[in-house]
Amino acid sequence: MPEETPVVRFAQAENEKLTNHPRFLGLLRQLQRQEGELPSAQRWHLRYLEAWEAAYAGDLPKASAILRDIINQSGDEIFTTRASALLINVLSRDRQYETAYELANTLMVNLPRIAEEDVRGEALRAIIQMLGLAGQNDQALKYARQLESEIPPGKSRCAAYSYELNALDAAGKLSPKNPGLQRAIDMCLDEKQEVYANTLRLDLASLLTDEGRTDKAISLLQNMSPSILKSKFQPHIASLHIGLAEAYMHRGDDASAKKAALAALAVSNPQNFSEPLQSAYSVLYFVEKRAGHPAAALSYYEKYVTQKLAAMDDTKTRALAYQMVRQQVVDKKLKLEALDKQNGILELRQALASKAQEASRLYIVLLSLVIVFIGLWTFRLKQSQMRFRRMARHDGLTGAFNRQHFLHEAGRILQRMLHADDAGACLVVLDLDHFKRINDTYGHAAGDEALRRIVAMCRRELRDSDLFGRLGGEEFGILMPGCTCEQGVEIATRIRRALASAPLKLSPDSSVVVSASLGLAHSTVSGYAFHQLFSDADAALYKAKRGGRNRLVVDTGGDAPLVMKDDAWDAASA
Ligand code: GH3
Ligand code: MG
Ligand code: MG
Repeated sequence: MPEETPVVRFAQAENEKLTNHPRFLGLLRQLQRQEGELPSAQRWHLRYLEAWEAAYAGDLPKASAILRDIINQSGDEIFTTRASALLINVLSRDRQYETAYELANTLMVNLPRIAEEDVRGEALRAIIQMLGLAGQNDQALKYARQLESEIPPGKSRCAAYSYELNALDAAGKLSPKNPGLQRAIDMCLDEKQEVYANTLRLDLASLLTDEGRTDKAISLLQNMSPSILKSKFQPHIASLHIGLAEAYMHRGDDASAKKAALAALAVSNPQNFSEPLQSAYSVLYFVEKRAGHPAAALSYYEKYVTQKLAAMDDTKTRALAYQMVRQQVVDKKLKLEALDKQNGILELRQALASKAQEASRLYIVLLSLVIVFIGLWTFRLKQSQMRFRRMARHDGLTGAFNRQHFLHEAGRILQRMLHADDAGACLVVLDLDHFKRINDTYGHAAGDEALRRIVAMCRRELRDSDLFGRLGGEEFGILMPGCTCEQGVEIATRIRRALASAPLKLSPDSSVVVSASLGLAHSTVSGYAFHQLFSDADAALYKAKRGGRNRLVVDTGGDAPLVMKDDAWDAASA
C-alpha cells in the first residue's frame, strides 16, 4: 500500500474520478481537511478537483467560479489549461457557447505548447466536444484521431476511441455493426472506465433501436442499467430511460414505454430542454395517441414541440456562436480576408440581425481589426521610410555620412555659425596614402575591410558634435564646429598618429600600416562659406601629399602653410 501522502491522494483522486466516484469524494474530503498544510500548487489542484466535482454534480455556477479563479490567478500553465478544458465543458452545458468557443480557440492556439500528455488529452477532448456542438463533425473527427494517435502504447485508449466513435456517430457515419464500437466498449469496461463504456453502450442501443433491433437494444440497456444508476450521472440516467422508452415503443409495448418515458421526465428538469426530454414527450405523445387519449396526446405534443423548437434554437445559437468566435480568431490573414469579403460580412450581418448585441460586438472586433491593420501598415511605412532615409544619408560600405549629406549638413552648420560668437569651425580633408597598393596587394575585399576599420578609428578620435563623411574613394571630410584652429590641429594629429601607428592585419601572415595625409582650414582664415573652407583644406591636403604624405598641413592664408609631420611644426611652402 502506498503511503497516504497528499501527492498519493491527488493521484488516486485523479484516477478514480470516473471509475470510483464515492472513493473520489472520500479522497476529496480528506484533501480538503488537509488544505492548510498544502503548498500553493497542490491547493490549486484541490480547487480544480472541487470544480470537477461541482461540474459532475451539475452545480455549474460553482464550477465556473472556481475554474475562472484558477485561470486568472494560479499562474500555472498546466492548471490553467486543465481549468480551461473543464470550463469549456461547463460553459457549453450552461449554453454559454460564445465564451466556450473563445476558450476552445485559445486552447487550439496553445495546444502546440502543451507537452504533458494527460493535459493535452484534456485540451483535445474539450476542443472535440466544442467542434461537435458546432456541428463541425469532420473537424471533430480529425481532432479525435489526433487524440488517439497521441496516446503512447500501453496507455488507456478508451476515452480516445469513445470520442472518435461519438464524432462518427454525430456525422451519421456509425453503424451498430462497426466492429470498433464493441471493441471500444469492451476496452473501456476492461479498464473500469464505466462512464465512457456507458456513453458508447447508450449510443449502440440507440443505433440498434433505429435499425429495428429492439430486443437487442432492450437487453443491452437492462444489462447496463445497474452500472448507470450507480454512477448517479444524470445525463446517462435520463438517456437510459429514454433508450428503453423508445425501444419499447418500437416493439409495441406501450405500457413499458410510458413507464420508462415518465422515469426519464422524473430525472430531468422540465424547465430545461434536453434531447431526453424531447424524446420522452415524443414517446408519451405516440403512446397516448395510440391509447386513444387525444387530450393527453395533444398536451405532450405541445411540450414536444416546445422542446424541439428550443433544441433547434440551441443548435442555431451554437453554430452562430462558433462562427462569431471563428471571426474573432487572431489571424491577420483571416482578418484581412474578412475585410475584403464585404459580402460575407453583409450575410453575417443579416444572420445576426436578431442578435443586435452580439452583432455590435462583431463590429467592434472588425473596427479594431481595421485600426490594428492601419497601425501596422503605418508602422511598416515609417520603418521603410527610416530605412530609405538612412540609405540616402549613409555610405553603404563604411556607415559614415555620404558625400551629398556631408556637404549639405556642413553647409547648414556653417550657415548657422555665421551669427554665433564662438571659437569658429575647422574643416579637415583626409586622403589615405597609396591606398591603391593595398588593393593591388591584398585584393579589393581586404581594401574594403581596411576602409571600414580606418573609419572606425577616425570616429573614435572625434567628438559627438563633429561631422564626419566619406567624400569619395578613400577621401574623408571632418567638420568640427565650435573648435579653435589649435583644437582642430590636435584632433587631426591624433587621427594621423592613430592611423600611422596601427598596423591592419589584412591577410593571415602580414599586416600593413595605412597612413593618411590631412589638410586643415579654419574659419578665422577662410570664413564660413563652405566652398572656400573646402577649397583651402583641399589645397593643404594636396601640399601634404606633395610634401611626402603621412602629415598634416594647415592652411594659414599665406603662401607658407604650417606642416606638422611628427611633433614639430615646419613653415613650408611645400
Ligand atoms: P595617394 O597617396 O596619392 O592618395 O595614393 P592612392 O593610391 O591612395 O591614390 P588615389 O587616392 O588616387 O587612389 C585611390 C584608390 O583607392 C583607388 C582605388 O583603388 C581605391 N579605392 C577607392 N575607393 C575604394 C573602395 O571603396 N574600396 C577599395 N577597396 N578601394 C577603393
Ligand atoms: Mg589616396
Ligand atoms: Mg584619393
